Amino acid sequence: MKKLEILQHYFGHQNFREQQEEVIDYILNNQDVLMILPTGGGKSLCYQLPSLLMSGVTVVVSPLLALMHDQVVALRGNGISASMLSSMQTQEETKEIEQALYNNQIKLLYVAPERLMNDYFLTFLMELNINFFVIDEAHCVSEWGHEFREHYRMLSQLKTSFPSTTIAAFTATATTIVREDIVSNLQLINPKIVTGSLFRKNLTMTAQHRQSDGRVQLINFLKEQKSLTGIVYAFSRKQTESVAKYLERQGYKAKAFHAGLPTNIKKKVYSEFVSDEIDIVVATIAFGMGIDKSNIRFVVHMNLPKTLENYYQEIGRAGRDGLDATTLLLFSAQDIVQQKSFIDALPDSPYKVNAYEKINTISRFSDSESCRHQQIAHYFNDSIEACGDRCDNCINPDRNSIDITTEARKLLSTIYRTKQSFGIHYVVDVIRGSKEQRILTNGHDQLSVYGIGENYSKPQWLSISDKLLELGAVGIGDYKVYYLTERGVNILKGGEEVSIREERLMVKKAKAKKKITYFDDYKVEIFDKLRVLRKEIATTSKVPPYVVFSDKTLKELSNVMPTNKAEMLEVHGVGEVKFERYGEAFLQLIAEIAHV
Ligand code: ADP
Ligand code: ZN
Repeated sequence: MKKLEILQHYFGHQNFREQQEEVIDYILNNQDVLMILPTGGGKSLCYQLPSLLMSGVTVVVSPLLALMHDQVVALRGNGISASMLSSMQTQEETKEIEQALYNNQIKLLYVAPERLMNDYFLTFLMELNINFFVIDEAHCVSEWGHEFREHYRMLSQLKTSFPSTTIAAFTATATTIVREDIVSNLQLINPKIVTGSLFRKNLTMTAQHRQSDGRVQLINFLKEQKSLTGIVYAFSRKQTESVAKYLERQGYKAKAFHAGLPTNIKKKVYSEFVSDEIDIVVATIAFGMGIDKSNIRFVVHMNLPKTLENYYQEIGRAGRDGLDATTLLLFSAQDIVQQKSFIDALPDSPYKVNAYEKINTISRFSDSESCRHQQIAHYFNDSIEACGDRCDNCINPDRNSIDITTEARKLLSTIYRTKQSFGIHYVVDVIRGSKEQRILTNGHDQLSVYGIGENYSKPQWLSISDKLLELGAVGIGDYKVYYLTERGVNILKGGEEVSIREERLMVKKAKAKKKITYFDDYKVEIFDKLRVLRKEIATTSKVPPYVVFSDKTLKELSNVMPTNKAEMLEVHGVGEVKFERYGEAFLQLIAEIAHV
């Protein structure tokens, strides 16, 4: 079969995307290659497809078991023989897989790096016919990246052991320095470097200063969503649980996920999410890497991520099917203080300096006023036009600022009068004239500043204090005590004015933005019926629904309403293999719907 036929037959796609064919050709010509393409860009096809044109087995190194598992399930769903070797397999299973490898019955083998690089296994591999090696998530080899993995370091030996075997490396994001690290650590030979545009035009990015705990903003955001499938990232384990409970109380199907949960619970949450039984996972960053759920419609960050790379990768999990998805980043100056305090605790090294720079980059990004897509592209050495309508800064360029000099002075004065010895919540309670026992005991109800700030709510005062923190007018000391800096003293004395974006003082329903039209481009009722069928099939065949058909496929089906095989094969994601398995069932349902 030719490349294009394989694409249609096994993968159900009509055409190659930009750069896919280029990488496939390099691989077929035994040329080392590094491909940098954003999440959802279609990297896996670039090594899966040429494997079908080669006679041996392709060995794929991947950092996460969940990722490998999903890929194997998806490949088998397309009728391609694939297996994985990791700590998850029993000895029996391992033996079986090894036998199958000897018999050349496996096209793609996924292995964990520590598994691959053990001596026994390397020797075993030398007896096989290996097409080429794939290093997925290749940025993990670099200590300059954001996800360095100790086991990836060993991969530098791969070229030494297999000098004539091609290596194809893939990653979604890599700055210049990480790119160089990948090439040198993997000892790639004159590699072709193929980069796609980083612009994910189906993602809409918004960032907001977090007001109090951000929950009102979260709910407002969720209310705007057409689909509820998404991930909410929270900072701590405790926070994931409390936000998940909160969402549940508000009527959402949400569950928490973090590394501290027992394995069986983690597995359960993961599979319930993948199979659409729950809508929202509130997770620490332990969740999501390699998650192969193409219909995630939103990603929310309740806190500032550690780096722009992390942020981009995490939001990149939304909209992998190419349909529109939205993201919301909530941040506050306190996040930055907190992140920096973690780095402070590290021993001195160049990586420490690097880590500070990364925090500064993401914090500038979060509070910026220019196109967010453009900024990210720039960070990764790409240049694009402003998106126009895919980020808050482009959608809503002129945001009103209001003068809060008086309020700022009141707050600074309260910090000063309470002797710079209290946390911000206490200070705000004083300014709002709270009758809390601690305040009365301390005699702070006798201060001239007591109750001078009743006209603003607590969340509003917290936003004002955040603004002062951003300006460096106040600092946070031990025990989270707020103190005045030189700049704060200057403001207090009337030497400087302070203003804040109006919206930060108002937790209000966001204005209707430009409507995303894609969601309306399909027949919702038909889609829902197709979805029920998909779920039934998925349950009986014990695979996640997206392995049967993606949302995109169902939406197209709802529009096209194919009446026969030929028409159905034209639809995105429907190839011969899939048609054989599920085609008739869907055609039948569509016929029934059409005759009602
Ligand atoms: P990545 O590994 O780069 O994150 P994937 O390989 O998971 O991306 O692909 C993302 C989505 O794009 C999948 O749903 C896949 O089916 C789809 N896709 C890949 N290549 C094509 C293509 N040539 N035409 C249409 N869809 C494609
Ligand atoms: Zn923009």
